[in-house]
Amino acid sequence: MEKHFSIPISRRNFMKLAGVAMAGVMVGGVDTPKAQAFSGKTAIANFNGADLPVLYDVDACVVGGGAAGTAAAINAGKNGASTVLVEQGISLGGLATQGLVYPCMRTFAYDSDTPYILELNRRIEEKQGVEPLRGMEDETSYGGGQGFYVPECLTWLYDEWCEEAGVAVLYGTTLVGAVVENGAITDCVVQTVDGLAKIRAKTFIDATGDALLSRFAGVPTEKGSERTGRNQPMTLRFEMSGIDVPKVYHFFHDKLKDTWMGEKSDRRFEEDVKKGLVPFMEFAKWKKTENFFKEGVRRGEVTEDDILYIQAFAIIGKPHTMSMNCPEIPPLGFSSTDAISRSQAVTFGRKMTRRLSAFFKKNIPGFENAFISKEASMVGVRESWRIRGKYYLTEETYMKREKFVDAICRTAYPIDIHDVKLDVFEKLKKGEYYEIPFRTLIADKVNNLLTVGRCASGSFVAQASFRIQPTCMSMGEAAGIATAWAVKHSMPVSEVKWEEIPETQRSYISKG
Ligand SMILES: Cc1cc2nc3c(=O)[nH]c(=O)nc-3n(C[C@H](O)[C@H](O)[C@H](O)COP(=O)(O)OP(=O)(O)OC[C@H]3O[C@@H](n4cnc5c(N)ncnc54)[C@H](O)[C@@H]3O)c2cc1C
Repeated sequence: MEKHFSIPISRRNFMKLAGVAMAGVMVGGVDTPKAQAFSGKTAIANFNGADLPVLYDVDACVVGGGAAGTAAAINAGKNGASTVLVEQGISLGGLATQGLVYPCMRTFAYDSDTPYILELNRRIEEKQGVEPLRGMEDETSYGGGQGFYVPECLTWLYDEWCEEAGVAVLYGTTLVGAVVENGAITDCVVQTVDGLAKIRAKTFIDATGDALLSRFAGVPTEKGSERTGRNQPMTLRFEMSGIDVPKVYHFFHDKLKDTWMGEKSDRRFEEDVKKGLVPFMEFAKWKKTENFFKEGVRRGEVTEDDILYIQAFAIIGKPHTMSMNCPEIPPLGFSSTDAISRSQAVTFGRKMTRRLSAFFKKNIPGFENAFISKEASMVGVRESWRIRGKYYLTEETYMKREKFVDAICRTAYPIDIHDVKLDVFEKLKKGEYYEIPFRTLIADKVNNLLTVGRCASGSFVAQASFRIQPTCMSMGEAAGIATAWAVKHSMPVSEVKWEEIPETQRSYISKG
């Protein structure tokens, strides 16, 4: 799970920050402006009148093939809408595959798995050939959503599933603009290997993670924290192989007295890895292990930033390999909503990965023969732009455990803000949850657009809870169903009332 290891702001090295500012990448900071609300206008790029070839003329065009977009496309296709899925990379899965995000987090809400997630889990088990442990439950592990999707299995599975659902996937194709007429998008403009082209559709789904299509269409958006103006920190993930995982475990557990993993024999440990109970090392989380890493800083092997958040997961079906949920790129120095800064974060992050891997090899028994076996091909953006839709999720929605007649999913995932902790948010208790209404996906002003995933409508704080993969998937699933419904009934998708779709066709029904 994404755990925090945060340090108070005073521990930050402000001299270093000044250095970052001089290097021209200081986009956040103590005096940063507040989150910019309603700033859609700067991003509008309207290609009206441009004589571009129309590549597809379809019922539904989904832009972005991450957790949310792939779910949207498969469900639109499966329910009868002719669908094209535009993806700038060459694999579906977004952060889960290109960003190496692993595993799919629990929602901590019982019965949160919508039919698409249940089917995805069935398919992944078939592909990975390993049945994950079921019924694991304790005070910290409960609820739905959990999935151990090995990136290489997920890409393969998604390709097959899209084919089966009749979805045309357009890889290596980047959204660069939109044509908007009378409150509706008529075409989105994409950059392909063959030059610019249009995709014409009745309904569009923005699953870019950055609300890019929504911004092109003039939908109001927000970015960053309402308190600090900063985006959540980015992470450039990587995998290391050649690791003796039990040896690492023993070092942390026996030598450093890190009890996070609990007591495990070598055999139990190996068995758990095979079965999919993914053990992970929360290297720097505990006071006990902190000194071990700080010694590395004192020796000049790593920096304070490098050790701020270190987390590693063993990966099901990939022996001797761990997925590194680090390094966390300092949010005071870099922003996911500034084009130059986001690019510089990659270079900065890559240097961090090299320092960390060298440090692990030199200092952690079990890493002697380890090497970087995979780098993310997409920087891990937790939060960037979010739309301001018909319904706006806030911390109130979470705190009041709100329920809605047009709910499309439920979650109790905690408000997980990396960066300095200015507020402490209560965790929902076992059995409690809040719901996400369909209106969260509807962009005001544009009647044939839905916005799904981490860029759906909500505050910075609310997004820190709804951004996890299973919730993004359930949003996409509902958007796909609603799109097919709108097409079938020749109506704008913004007028669909989720609660009026027959129960048998809905992926989630609120119990109120
Ligand atoms: C470091 C990190 C760790 C995390 N850990 C976990 C975890 O352990 N478990 C968990 O469940 N969640 C975790 N999350 C959160 C979760 O991974 C994301 O919030 C979620 O995957 C978002 O899904 P999405 O579909 O909205 O966006 P994304 O996965 O970002 O997908 C967006 C897709 O759109 C494509 N795209 C973007 N722009 C364009 C364009 N212009 N043209 C064409 N295509 C475009 C991208 O290539 C990408 O494929 C983590 C996130 C990060 C960054």
